[in-house]
Amino acid sequence: CGIVGYIGPKDVVPLIVEGLRRLEYRGYDSAGIAVAGIADNPTLLDVRRAPGKLSNLESVLRDKPLHGTYGIGHTRWATHGRPTEENAHPHRDGTGTLVVVHNGIVENYLALKRDLIARGHRFVSETDTEIIAHLIEDELEKAALTVPAPQLIEANTAEAIVTAPASPIPLEEAVRRAVKRLTGAFAIGVLSAREPNKLVAARLGPPAVIGIGDGEFFLASDVPGILHHTRDIVFLNDNEVAVLTKEGVTYTDFEGTPHTRTPQRITWDP
Ligand code: GLU
Repeated sequence: CGIVGYIGPKDVVPLIVEGLRRLEYRGYDSAGIAVAGIADNPTLLDVRRAPGKLSNLESVLRDKPLHGTYGIGHTRWATHGRPTEENAHPHRDGTGTLVVVHNGIVENYLALKRDLIARGHRFVSETDTEIIAHLIEDELEKAALTVPAPQLIEANTAEAIVTAPASPIPLEEAVRRAVKRLTGAFAIGVLSAREPNKLVAARLGPPAVIGIGDGEFFLASDVPGILHHTRDIVFLNDNEVAVLTKEGVTYTDFEGTPHTRTPQRITWDP
């Protein structure tokens, strides 16, 4: 329902929570945030989630603080699965090293879920969104079979330190391959501890916007989530993928063909 992502020098958690607050008018039933670049270690990632209002997430964050240099947050409007903590976004893949936030509906999620379960994937939520995380993992696994084994890295999930291989293909390529298997509507934000300092966004249907700052870059489901930080906005098109790093933002279609986008200056106030 609401998405805010950030990569840049500022403390990411308060920035994302504030952005989600500004998107509150969209309504939601749970909230969550995933952060990476913890303690200046780009390979760590961690998640906090809470059912109900954003203030519930804030009190979880007071008890168990999170600091990082990039991250994504979400407020959920449940379509598949009850409004519980387990169903709150961000959702992880099976390795715990990759997270997805999602607006929209994956229409073919049952068929995809059945296929993934048959190939050994285990799901912990009732959502359609969790399938997206596992599909990206699946694409990384398939790619790893054809690409020489990369070196191992350590990643911190909430439960444990896990060791995962560095990404065999760029995260955005795995995202492109995964979203092509989806039918339905989605705006997603993805980050992976296997590929530090990168946010990937993809859109087909629900809106997604990119904010261009000075050495910092934003992702949001709607302009008011980030307009207090930058007025230079790219409205993602359908079938478009954006890759946000500390250096800037690049764009491709779902086939991977690159193109350039020029930000628009937003002069109105929400
Ligand atoms: N279909 C997803 C879910 O139920 C995303 C809902 C949303 O757009 O917030 O979790």
